[in-house]
Amino acid sequence: MAISDDDIERVRTAQPISAVIGNYVALKRAGRNFLGLCPFHGEKTPSFNVRDETGRYKCFGCGASGDVFKFVQEVERLDFVGAIEHLAAKSGITITYTAGGPSKDRQRNKRLFELMEQAVEWYHQRLLSAPDAKDAREYLRTRGLSGDIARQFKLGWAPDAWDALSVELGADAEMLRDCGLAFTNSRGRLQDSFRARVMFPIFKDSGEAVAFGGRILPGSKDPAKYKNSSESKIYTKSKTLYGLNWAKADVVKADQIVVCEGYTDVIGFHRVGFTRAVATCGTALTEDHVRLMKRFANNVVLAFDADAAGQGAAERFYEWERKIDIRVNVARLKGGKDPGDLADSDPQGLLNSVENAEPFMAFRVRRILDGARINTPEDKARVAERAIAIINEHPNVIVRRDYATQVAEQLWGNDKKQIDDVVQKVDRKFGATRSRNEAQAMAPSGNKENAEFVILALMIARCDDVTGIVAEEVFSDDTHRRVFRALLAHHGNHKQAEADLDPEALELLSRVEVFDVPVDADPRKEGINLLRAAVRRELARRVTDTSSAVITRDREIKRMVEQLTARDVADSVIADLLAWLYDVTSANEA
Ligand SMILES: [Zn+2]
Repeated sequence: MAISDDDIERVRTAQPISAVIGNYVALKRAGRNFLGLCPFHGEKTPSFNVRDETGRYKCFGCGASGDVFKFVQEVERLDFVGAIEHLAAKSGITITYTAGGPSKDRQRNKRLFELMEQAVEWYHQRLLSAPDAKDAREYLRTRGLSGDIARQFKLGWAPDAWDALSVELGADAEMLRDCGLAFTNSRGRLQDSFRARVMFPIFKDSGEAVAFGGRILPGSKDPAKYKNSSESKIYTKSKTLYGLNWAKADVVKADQIVVCEGYTDVIGFHRVGFTRAVATCGTALTEDHVRLMKRFANNVVLAFDADAAGQGAAERFYEWERKIDIRVNVARLKGGKDPGDLADSDPQGLLNSVENAEPFMAFRVRRILDGARINTPEDKARVAERAIAIINEHPNVIVRRDYATQVAEQLWGNDKKQIDDVVQKVDRKFGATRSRNEAQAMAPSGNKENAEFVILALMIARCDDVTGIVAEEVFSDDTHRRVFRALLAHHGNHKQAEADLDPEALELLSRVEVFDVPVDADPRKEGINLLRAAVRRELARRVTDTSSAVITRDREIKRMVEQLTARDVADSVIADLLAWLYDVTSANEA
């Protein structure tokens, strides 16, 4: 089975690559490229380049690169033919097969999506008009979820019957099981997964229905208030956010996404005109969820009682802030109510809660200080202790110091001695803070080789902070470059990287491994220094080509190099210079 080359080219050129990738990644124009956060690795600064002229993408963080088909293959987990079929369908192109038909997997998934779509529609129509859905309609009306809301969110009603849906769809048992709509019961009979429940269909961010959440009506004897589809061939809980399909466009525009706990909370936000809300589908928030959100926005607002999310939740949030580079704020929901209720009782209050969201740490510290009794020195010491315990959960010493100072000031006013005391308690947390002099003594000099060496050490200590700023093209020393490449391939895992290296590079790596990275080393600054040196080197080498296009481009590059000395260097400048280095060095090699 094959697709003709003509068809492949038609599909490839139907849309610019930036338009296709733009459906998955928020892209911004940056010089001749588009730039965004790489969907294939977690990163803090955008290093994912897309260029329409060449129809290719390249990530300077993880090295992922390819054309539009490769991208669709990777991101949709399809084979080559599947990717072509996927793109053809999106562009409305009919392809002809030289032998056989569409790929088997693709065909099967397509059938599962169709079944889900039919189920959504059938449940929906039941809710709108079936006599047995009267109670459900009444219940939704009291919750403000009828009429247009029910239509927009395709709410449904699963009748109180064993197999009404299965019979209606008439698909074979395996297909129904594969999309989680039915299961085989203990008597060996096919049974619908949902029964006597209000149905909330769950869609992928690209719009296909993949699962359901079902809620009982008040007065039901069923102990489980909500039931969710189990995972299936087309549904992974940790990678699905309810409402993202409706929220996507607004989320990208506002660079903000609000996370709730329930379907009705998401709908509640929509009801008050706020369309950037999503919910996890009956699971806790996972790192995969956060990575999914990061594809669309940098700011996450938690609109649920995050403090009640269990032990360790706070550490997880801080870890994600550092690792995935998102900012996590917490909405203060009045009276501990959830957004679905507030949408009814206090719509403006609900909007304000998002508007006034504050960092998680601030939220928790304030909770301790507000309403605490601080009359006696003993009271103050006790409150300080509790606050310090919370502050010490944060991995960043600067953040800890800042909050500790605030707490001390609030308790003791301008008492320098007390403030120092409290700050010391958060300073010592990891017992690894060095004296300032020591740190300064170790800080790298401007020496080029040292700078490359420090970057390698940072790759081991804080890989995510380096990738995206540094690419192998910036290294002047080839051994350093080889070590960098190996560390990049193993995401900073130096033990694994060792296996890829020749003796000379191995010897360098062994020195890097024992190097104590200064606590205040700034990967971004170090990376920019290397980049500037590399671009200047390359410009100096380029004297032969005098065509006007090259001269204009080089002038542009020189201007950008100047910008690297600014205090706030734009990510697009870094990305453009890395892209240029990549272009010219690969041209040199060719
Ligand atoms: Zn990447």
